[in-house]
Amino acid sequence: MTTVDEPTPVVPTGDATSIAGQWLRDFTRAMDSVDLGAVELLFLSDGWWRDLLSVTWDFRTLHGMEAIQEIAKCGTDAGLTKFALTKGKTPQVVSRDPSPESIEAFFDFETRVGQGRGVVRLTLDVDGMWKAWTLLTTLQDLHGHEQARRTHRPAHVPENGASPGDNWSDWRQRASEFTQSEPQVVVVGSGHGGLAVAANLSLFGIDTLIIEQNARIGDNWRMRYHSLVLHDPIWADHLPYLPFPESWPVHTPKDKLADWLELYAVAMDLNFWTGTQILDSSYDDARNVWTLQVRRSDGTVRTLHPAHVVLATGVHGETQVPQFEGMKNFGGRLLHSSEYTGGDLSPGTRAIVVGAGNSGHDIAEDLHRSGADVTLIQRSSTYVMTQKNGLPTLFGSLFYEGGPPVEDADLLGASFPYSLALERAVHQTRVIADMDRDLLEGLKRAGFRTDLGINGGGGLSKILFGPGSYYLDVGCSQLIADGKVKVAHASVERLTETGIIFDDGTRLDADIVVFATGYKSMRETARRLFGDELADRCDPLWGLNSEGEINSMWRNSGHPGFWFMGGPLYIARFYSRYLALQIQALERGIFIHPAVSSASRSGSGTELVGQSSKGAELN
Ligand SMILES: Cc1cc2nc3c(=O)[nH]c(=O)nc-3n(C[C@H](O)[C@H](O)[C@H](O)COP(=O)(O)OP(=O)(O)OC[C@H]3O[C@@H](n4cnc5c(N)ncnc54)[C@H](O)[C@@H]3O)c2cc1C
Repeated sequence: MTTVDEPTPVVPTGDATSIAGQWLRDFTRAMDSVDLGAVELLFLSDGWWRDLLSVTWDFRTLHGMEAIQEIAKCGTDAGLTKFALTKGKTPQVVSRDPSPESIEAFFDFETRVGQGRGVVRLTLDVDGMWKAWTLLTTLQDLHGHEQARRTHRPAHVPENGASPGDNWSDWRQRASEFTQSEPQVVVVGSGHGGLAVAANLSLFGIDTLIIEQNARIGDNWRMRYHSLVLHDPIWADHLPYLPFPESWPVHTPKDKLADWLELYAVAMDLNFWTGTQILDSSYDDARNVWTLQVRRSDGTVRTLHPAHVVLATGVHGETQVPQFEGMKNFGGRLLHSSEYTGGDLSPGTRAIVVGAGNSGHDIAEDLHRSGADVTLIQRSSTYVMTQKNGLPTLFGSLFYEGGPPVEDADLLGASFPYSLALERAVHQTRVIADMDRDLLEGLKRAGFRTDLGINGGGGLSKILFGPGSYYLDVGCSQLIADGKVKVAHASVERLTETGIIFDDGTRLDADIVVFATGYKSMRETARRLFGDELADRCDPLWGLNSEGEINSMWRNSGHPGFWFMGGPLYIARFYSRYLALQIQALERGIFIHPAVSSASRSGSGTELVGQSSKGAELN
């Protein structure tokens, strides 16, 4: 075993490029020579190593020296080597409140099976050495099977293998119909999640078919209420590989996004069948293959045999509507928030919105602007932050006009393990609440209850750990503070012909009642579409496991050949590549099936199963 060079001592005038470059050279030597003593000198004792697929074919976060040495051992098995600064990306000295000042550097590396990218954040330790506080390693491509873009783009389409005389249009038509071949993957749902994963799969050379129940791609947005515009700013919302035009508004209107999704599917040469429903399904565990029966929009029934199914039906799958006595007798309109398409109302219409999260607020505002007399029913408390102050604080260092390229911003975001992101969220939540103070006090005076999230972690804590509502304020909070949208605190007891009776005995008459009471887990959608056996084999979704990785999304679901895809645009854009890469590696026999090899079933501890290139031999 050779020894690694001593890590670079502190350079008072700090040249970030040479410090980061030296650290990567030292790290390469440590990995090449399996020198765990050297690894120890390169990390803070409470440092972090987050890995997406390059070491263990899984998403892992290791914290503290013992765990880091353990993953380093697996890393050497996986052949991690040749760490070097990414060309054209100068390391930066950054201070991301409340984190310590650090040198942030992008790097490239290789593994036995492919190429990787990562981010290291070096800080000055008490002994005067620059050490890794956080390290992110991600696998990007498999050797010889790189995504077909940039230097790997095809010279012509169709390439060899298409029928003689076919032009691009004939080839696309034939490929999309799957009359002469089977899709390797069927993606259910063509929202941005389904499109993003299908785009990645197709660039990885995996035959993929999207099936969508609606008549057109984008109808999921077209059918939403009239005034809806995206909440997040455009810089966060790009789909992979095809950014929005530079002239687009900061907040995209829903129908504009709908048309863009449709255009995206065509521009990226994706295969999709719209107006298509799953009729029946079964999975053959011995052959790792599905049998799916689907009915297409023209009524024909097709049987498909993909190796993988990706469920991308969105969180808006199974609506959650509490059942109350008297619902059938209510004389007005009764609907779930997903059925609300806009307030085309006569003036003075009395509206009740049950549920004080994002949808409840947006619909209450829309109803008010349509002239309705609106009461919002709040059961517990809500985390509220304004779009004006909240988004620049949360997204400000990554997604803004003139900000880093989106692929870099995504890596930087992922380089903070969720546990650290939650610590940062506590700080950010306080900063935002301070800026939003006047509004929050106004809400309090109006009787609206707010909180700062779970353990003060704001919206992120509610998304990760739920239940609990949050609202990104785009206008409704001021209406509540001004008394223009009324608030009531009570639980619904029953409905009458004319309205609602609450558990404190009060009653409120209404012409329209909207239940903005959320959605059930995607696992319940899986249950409805694929049956109890599959749903019961799947692990719990979302929430964090003991290492701080999100449970079961974009990776091993617990059921072979079945994957969950979802999340807001910036999350779907990032993780879709890793989901696609796992499928590609399985299809090429490089990666053994996660359902049998995984150490990361939800709640698992720190056992590590290294990545290897032996899969090809075993298959
Ligand atoms: C007011 C508002 C503002 C928002 N702003 C943003 C924002 O700025 N950024 C952001 O990222 N998100 C935003 N969202 C959230 C966004 O709506 C969801 O995150 C997003 O729609 C999820 O995308 P998805 O692709 O996972 O699912 P969806 O968009 O729900 O798409 C799922 C698709 O699957 C299809 N489907 C469902 N079941 C089946 C089936 N059985 N067979 C075939 N197809 C099926 C559906 O028809 C649909 O087309 C906002 C939401 C609201 C209400």
